[in-house]
Amino acid sequence: MRAAVLAVGSELLSTDRLDTNSLRLAALFEEHDAELIGKAVVGDDEAAIAAEIGRRLGRCDLLVVTGGLGPTADDVTREGCAAAVGRPLLDDPQVWAAIEQRFAAFGRRPSPNNRRQAQVIEGARVLPNERGSAPGLLLEAAGTTIFLFPGVPHELERMVERDLAPWLAGRSGGHGRERRTLRTAMRPESEVDQALAPAYLEFERRWITVLASPGEVRVRLTAAGPPAARGARLAAMVERVRQLLGETIYGEGEEGGLEQVVGDLLAARERTVATAESCTGGLLAERLTRVPGSSRYFPGAIVAYGNAEKVALLGVPAEMLERHGAVSEEVARAMAEGARRHFAVDYALAVTGIAGPEGGSAEKPVGTVHLALAAADETRHRAVRLIGDRERIRWQASQAALEMLRRRILAGDGNDAA
Ligand code: AMP
Ligand code: MG
Repeated sequence: MRAAVLAVGSELLSTDRLDTNSLRLAALFEEHDAELIGKAVVGDDEAAIAAEIGRRLGRCDLLVVTGGLGPTADDVTREGCAAAVGRPLLDDPQVWAAIEQRFAAFGRRPSPNNRRQAQVIEGARVLPNERGSAPGLLLEAAGTTIFLFPGVPHELERMVERDLAPWLAGRSGGHGRERRTLRTAMRPESEVDQALAPAYLEFERRWITVLASPGEVRVRLTAAGPPAARGARLAAMVERVRQLLGETIYGEGEEGGLEQVVGDLLAARERTVATAESCTGGLLAERLTRVPGSSRYFPGAIVAYGNAEKVALLGVPAEMLERHGAVSEEVARAMAEGARRHFAVDYALAVTGIAGPEGGSAEKPVGTVHLALAAADETRHRAVRLIGDRERIRWQASQAALEMLRRRILAGDGNDAA
């Protein structure tokens, strides 16, 4: 199955808007093992639309066109497509009635402009739009099946699920692809890659993708084939990769992040955490509170950016700051212990570091970050050297702190029932 996408909309050619519809469609094609042979973006121009559609006719099994089906004069996808396939546009009374009904439901009447949305390319099937007024169209020409869909992503989504996905499933005979993503934090990409070597041999390199982003490496596993076979293969791959990477895998899936996993762990074990933040300026607290329900385990943070604030708010001894500097193991430990006392929590995380671009020295270059985690039994410390600009360093510092806490919770705090 060969598929192509055409995104129509002049705004997509400017800096105003990104063509995300083609990404959604690409994901769907992947699921159904259809090959995306190309995609194009054109403005709201009838001749350009006709040329792009004409170019694809007979050269792919499926062409999906999104956008330009609205009622305004610049929406000319219907006209462009009709020209490409050499068929007339006809008024469809049923479509018009449906549009009138939709407007009536909102206590309004369609304007004469809306008439154009009731035009159907001869021989095309109308695909109702449950979330908007512009219906889609489905037609065949020169061996190519063409879907015309509205451009509004949430209208498109419904039609993709209702019309396109079943069409693809029918064509592929259940053949498809599935993907699972395993995530690790603060482990270098090269190290993850190396650890995965046996899996590359067992399952073939091309089904395993290692994707790095700051402070995080994702391992994407893909399997193709009929549902049962690919499901079994994927399960075997996940198990093997879990074996190889062990505890460094913090979670699965594309959504959420370390803060969600840490939050779930804290909630499940009825533990609480607070933060004492210098170079992250509250980023840790921001991340922890992204998770709904975080008030159960997170009472608050102390952002102590200045030295005087570290003394006054966290009880860091002034003499310690003087002797070791704010970015030091001693101060990180004192900050964590200060926050733990203040909030009366099980755990307190502290971060102090040099995010740059200025403020580095030979001894403490930009990216030097000290982390501490205070618990009832002990305070642990970790020093890291992070690479990148200010934003990346701050993000990775928050990632390292959350990972430190995750490991600690998993290892137990001595209070867990056996
Ligand atoms: P249209 O169906 O051309 O009237 O498009 C309606 C709206 O949907 C546009 O104003 C865009 O905001 C959005 N849109 C259209 N095409 C795309 C696309 N390819 N990706 C993302 N958004 C789109
Ligand atoms: Mg448009």
